[in-house]
Amino acid sequence: MEFRDTPEEAAFRDEVRSFIKAELPSELRDQNMMMEEESQDAGIRAWRKTMARKGWIAPHWPKEYGGAGMSVIEQFVFNEEMAEARAPQVGGMGVQMIGPVLIRFGTDEQKKEHLPRITSGEVQWCQGYSEPGSGSDLASLQTTAVRDGDDYVINGQKIWTSGAHRADWMFMLARTDPGAPKHRGISMMLMDMKSPGIQIQPLITMSGDHVFNQEYFDAVRVPAKNLIGEENRGWYIGAALLDFERSNIANAIGIKHSVNDMVSLLRERQKSGLFAGDLRNAKMELADRAVEGQIARLISYRVITIQRRGAVPNYEASMNKNFGAEVRQRLATTGMHILGLYGGLYGKQSGAPRNGAVSHQYLSVVSSTIAAGTSEVNRNVIATRGLGLPRS
Ligand SMILES: Cc1cc2nc3c(=O)[nH]c(=O)nc-3n(C[C@H](O)[C@H](O)[C@H](O)COP(=O)(O)OP(=O)(O)OC[C@H]3O[C@@H](n4cnc5c(N)ncnc54)[C@H](O)[C@@H]3O)c2cc1C
Repeated sequence: MEFRDTPEEAAFRDEVRSFIKAELPSELRDQNMMMEEESQDAGIRAWRKTMARKGWIAPHWPKEYGGAGMSVIEQFVFNEEMAEARAPQVGGMGVQMIGPVLIRFGTDEQKKEHLPRITSGEVQWCQGYSEPGSGSDLASLQTTAVRDGDDYVINGQKIWTSGAHRADWMFMLARTDPGAPKHRGISMMLMDMKSPGIQIQPLITMSGDHVFNQEYFDAVRVPAKNLIGEENRGWYIGAALLDFERSNIANAIGIKHSVNDMVSLLRERQKSGLFAGDLRNAKMELADRAVEGQIARLISYRVITIQRRGAVPNYEASMNKNFGAEVRQRLATTGMHILGLYGGLYGKQSGAPRNGAVSHQYLSVVSSTIAAGTSEVNRNVIATRGLGLPRS
């Protein structure tokens, strides 16, 4: 792999940098989790519009579907520069997950209906996979979809659905043949979140955030034209979508920023005489995190090299996801070590250093090794598909 930019890539990098310099509002540059949700939302909506005007919501999609037709490498340069500037990610699940699936498996009608509304930033998506008894063992899901005329009628429940309270549409897996072996009776379909019969309840995390929800479906009608691919073949499409989800490479750059944040936090605490730990240990810990950040970057290079060949990363996506999630947890722990007892202060009103962002981070990253498949489940993928070990 050649790590240096070609002249074309360097020119493109300059173009992205100039765009960010001119267009990204300064208050969005230092996105942090303690920003008020509403002002964050308004700023992000405006940024999404700016990106849509440029055709950069889904930069890697073909132009015919509203993307910018960027090559994998251009997309990587683009993602690097956006993450470097700490610009908020605006495409969401539409760009990262369901869009690529529709491009591969959707009908022309589905592409026409949904892709332009994703690239214009109009529509937000959520992922209806998990159910109370079906997380890791997703294929055991119980929500049913029964064909009735031109519709499927959906009954059941989904849980841990990130952003369902803001989403316009859900891509979901439902059981269409209860008599078939469990992987072969599942279909994937698209549900309009305004359909009658959907009840959404918030679930508040231990860090106090409203990230996800549970939904109850009572005879919700989904037009049969919203089925993706063939009936009862949804498992395989749903699994391809997970590979897209786990291939997210922007995280590696986020880790670098967090390491820099931790270095400045240590300096700040030391300067003000509030660092009570062992300086040598803290420095060693930070050095470990910095090295891990570089490794995360190399793993993401591996993922894009596979994408560049036109393939979908599989166990490599699981490596990418696991390593990134686990480094973020270790980083948050390093932050708490730097703060010592001050790390126990929580929330903006508590007088916590950095407005409580470090302790908030510490609590919120707990979920990173659960979301998008637990670390254990991803290790099973790496063991069986990557190392060729037998299933236990
Ligand atoms: C922040 C966050 C956001 C999420 N967003 C969404 C979303 O938008 N949409 C959605 O559908 N879901 C979402 N989820 C749900 C997530 O996909 C599930 O929580 C996850 O797949 C685990 O399922 P579970 O919670 O049922 O745990 P379980 O599957 O019950 O697992 C419990 C424990 O058993 C272990 N375990 C289970 N099976 C195995 C095995 N075969 N080998 C080894 N260990 C195993 C697990 O690793 C875990 O430690 C989200 C979760 C989080 C935390």
